[in-house]
Amino acid sequence: MNPELARAESLIRSIPDYPQPGILFRDITPLLADARALHATTEALVEPFAGSFDVVAGVEARGFILAGAAAITAGVGFVPIRKAGKLPQPAAAVDYALEYGTATIEMHDDLPAGTRILLIDDVLATGGTLAAGRTVIESLGYTVAGISVLFEIEGLGGRDVIGDLHTVFRSS
Ligand code: AMP
Repeated sequence: MNPELARAESLIRSIPDYPQPGILFRDITPLLADARALHATTEALVEPFAGSFDVVAGVEARGFILAGAAAITAGVGFVPIRKAGKLPQPAAAVDYALEYGTATIEMHDDLPAGTRILLIDDVLATGGTLAAGRTVIESLGYTVAGISVLFEIEGLGGRDVIGDLHTVFRSS
C-alpha cells in the first residue's frame, strides 16, 4: 500500500459499542478532516474505474461525503440516492433490510438512459445498503459501472451479497 494510503488508514478510528453494544464503529471523520488523507482515498476510490463511468452516486448520508469528493476528483457529476421522502421527485424506490426493521431509498431519473454510474459508500458491512443502491440504479435503466468502498468489514457477508467490488481498506 502506498504510504499516503497507509497514513490515511491510520486515521480511521474504531469506536466500540456505538451506536449499540457489540458494534465496532469505523469512524472516518478524522480521515475526512485531513487534506492529504481525503485526497489519497478519493483518488483510490475512483482510480480502478477511470474512464468507465459518467457520474458518481452515493447513498445518504455518509456516502454523500466520499462520493461528492470522488466526483470532483474524477471530473464528473454527483447523484444522490436518498432515504424515502427526501427527494422532491423520486422515480424509483427500493426497500431493504436493516439489522432492525427496514429502510427505503429513492433516486431521481434525470440522467440519460444507459448512463454509467460508479456507486460509492464509506463502509461495507452486510452489503444491504449497496445492494439496494445497485437495484435502484438498475431499475431506472442505468448501468452500475462499479462499486467502490472505503472500508470493508470482513466477515459480515457484504462481499458475498455485492460480488465484484473495489475496497480501499479492509479489516475483520
Ligand atoms: P450495510 O450493513 O453494509 O448495509 O451497512 C449499512 C451502512 O451502515 C453503511 O453504509 C455504513 O455507512 C454503515 N455501517 C454499518 N456498519 C458500520 C460500522 N461498523 N462502522 C461504521 N459504519 C457502519
